[in-house]
Amino acid sequence: MLPFVYDALPSRVVFGAGTLDSLLDEVRKLGAQRALVLCTPEQRAMGADIVVRLGAHSAGVFDGAVMHVPTEVAAAARDKAQRLSADCCVAIGGGSTTGLAKAIALTSELPILAIPTTYAGSEMTPIWGLTEGGLKKTGRDLRVLPKTVIYDPELTLSLPVAMSVTSGINAIAHCVEALYARDANPIVSLIAEEGIRALAGSLREIVKQPDHLEARSNALYGAWLGGVSLGSVGMALHHKLCHTLGGTFNLPHAETHTVVLPHAVAYNASAAPGAMERIARALGARSAAEGLYDLAKSLGAPVSLQALGMKRDQLDRAADLAVQNAYYNPRPVTRDGIRNLLEDAFDGRRPQ
Ligand code: NAD
Repeated sequence: MLPFVYDALPSRVVFGAGTLDSLLDEVRKLGAQRALVLCTPEQRAMGADIVVRLGAHSAGVFDGAVMHVPTEVAAAARDKAQRLSADCCVAIGGGSTTGLAKAIALTSELPILAIPTTYAGSEMTPIWGLTEGGLKKTGRDLRVLPKTVIYDPELTLSLPVAMSVTSGINAIAHCVEALYARDANPIVSLIAEEGIRALAGSLREIVKQPDHLEARSNALYGAWLGGVSLGSVGMALHHKLCHTLGGTFNLPHAETHTVVLPHAVAYNASAAPGAMERIARALGARSAAEGLYDLAKSLGAPVSLQALGMKRDQLDRAADLAVQNAYYNPRPVTRDGIRNLLEDAFDGRRPQ
């Protein structure tokens, strides 16, 4: 076995149907008395339920979370936390809401209790992101890692099937890139492979029966493992491409991950055979790239960038941007190689 370094991330996880009932206890365990509740405008009702559950431990609600944490939204939320003398944040929602809690923690060190309702996985990572003037800046800082995470699958029953599928494939993407990360290690690889298996199996069930609580539990379990994978080791070409496409061409986050993943994997296949074997095994497929493409297609997800609203004349600029700053990838990143990859993803071709 090759030498490796394994950094465990310190967080407490409470998992299972009905575990939202432990919210007040968990807030008390953090030593907090005035929680600021965060949610999106669409999830106001969930935010209001959290306030009721917290009773006297609620300081108030900020219900303005939006995608990619614009700096002005972060400033307004930080201001509200300060005005209300909040001593912790309770974030209920997807990556956008967790991201807002992280923006508050970054400057105030307020502890976060996260209650994820999508499969994005941000709750398990020390990665923050802030967007100013259309440019998203990201960084790693342990102060933003949620101290406690309550995974209650009942809260995901309302996640529409199409969003469940793309959000779930977003989580699979974290697992996939963890398997060929520069700092990959046997522990995170175990987690990542199990994450792919749990997600692929449960998404197939959710598409047939969206209110299947056992399938919802397995998907959330896989999302957790995806979050741990993303938070523990570095990502590569796939995440770089999705960051570029989302930031510059305003493509939707989870859908872009869904379309690009089989093509990024096909690109890296020859350079990471061990990872490919594990991905294919977890999917029950002949090859990793084909398996990922077939999974997305069978779940009714978009498989082309064209379907997400990208234009063919944007591919050159996307390829230029994707090779601009050097970053780790198992196979060297070349302008021509990326341009071909993007063309395949644009047309939604099945990788060979
Ligand atoms: P999201 O948080 O933007 O949610 C999308 C929409 O779905 C919102 O309107 C939300 O209110 C709604 N929603 C969420 N859960 C629901 C439910 N159970 N029922 C009904 N509606 C629900 O989407 P996301 O994909 O979870 O997060 C994307 C963002 O998270 C991006 O900005 C991405 O960059 C970021 N992200 C960050 C990390 C990290 O580690 N920092 C990891 C993954 C994603």
